[in-house]
Amino acid sequence: MRPLTATIRLDHLRHNYQQARAAHGDKTLAVLKANAYGHGAVRCAQALADIADGFAVACLEEAQELRAAGIANPILLLEGVFEAGELQAVDALDLWMAVASEEQLAMVEAAAPAKPFNIWLMLDSGMHREGFLPQDYQAAWRRLEASGKAGKITKMTHFARADEPDVPMTFSQLEMFDAAMRGLPAGEESVANSAGILCHPRAQRNWGRVGIALYGVTPLPAGVGQDADLRPVMRFASKVFGVRELGIGEPIGYGDNFVTHRPTRVGLVACGYADGYPRRASSGSPVRVDGARSRLIGRVSMDMLTVDLTDLPDAGIGSEVEGQRAPFRPADPAAAHAAAEQRRQQSGGGAGAATG
Ligand SMILES: *Cc1c(COP(=O)(O)O)cnc(C)c1O
Repeated sequence: MRPLTATIRLDHLRHNYQQARAAHGDKTLAVLKANAYGHGAVRCAQALADIADGFAVACLEEAQELRAAGIANPILLLEGVFEAGELQAVDALDLWMAVASEEQLAMVEAAAPAKPFNIWLMLDSGMHREGFLPQDYQAAWRRLEASGKAGKITKMTHFARADEPDVPMTFSQLEMFDAAMRGLPAGEESVANSAGILCHPRAQRNWGRVGIALYGVTPLPAGVGQDADLRPVMRFASKVFGVRELGIGEPIGYGDNFVTHRPTRVGLVACGYADGYPRRASSGSPVRVDGARSRLIGRVSMDMLTVDLTDLPDAGIGSEVEGQRAPFRPADPAAAHAAAEQRRQQSGGGAGAATG
């Protein structure tokens, strides 16, 4: 059989949830959208069911899958419904839902649920993806209340740049949120995603919404934010199934983006972009071969990639190759912070270096 495996550590998932919940200091939804970020939504939900305050998914189909598997925890539809016909299922399956547009608000007003909906009313505080603008928010709230179709209403917004700790936008989003809510009845609030939970104490409101950090990936530059001891949930590994010795000046694979500059021992690995390994990963991206550091060389193919075995004489056919990303906890956080800062400046304030 093809030796490619993705191993899911559900104990690490539970650990990460508990870390995020402790960092947030209050109730936290575990975000399981997109098949739990590729980790398997039902198995992840089952593993978290006894400790999670609730789950969040993007759409009804994902919530139906969890309910069909017997998951009884609260489930929030982060994007609400796409058409009025879904509201019956929201009611029957006891789902919570975001209301983030005039269209969704009108659907709720026109619905006839058996019991009032649990609604998370979304403010657009600057991300400009979905949600009511500050000047429209309170009117939307009053319409929901007047409709009699809403039970509990939770105040919600979403951050655009919480993973960039030095950018002031998160603070202005929080200020806008608090200003927009002034005068409304007291109630529960939810603003923080993973980055908000890990590095914005002022974003700690009643409900956190942890996604990427749940799976052991910090969204923050190395050394920044709470040291939450996140552990990788997925281990993605394959094996070398071919070895080739090349001289100097030989290209490898498609294109000419890698040409050997020394006699090179190339390992052929059973993993490619069809398996989810990024096609655009560049030569030099880190991998581990039998636990030793090595690197990708040449362009990633659909079902194969190539790694450098030149300095690993003991590696060969059957050696295990593991995908890597940047370490979560640098030995020297101050140096890592400085390096992240330098990277940010070099890239003109854009995202940090790709980690593959
Ligand atoms: C996806 C999503 C989250 C989780 O975001 P992470 O950055 O992965 O933690 C939280 N809230 C909303 C509204 C989302 O769409």
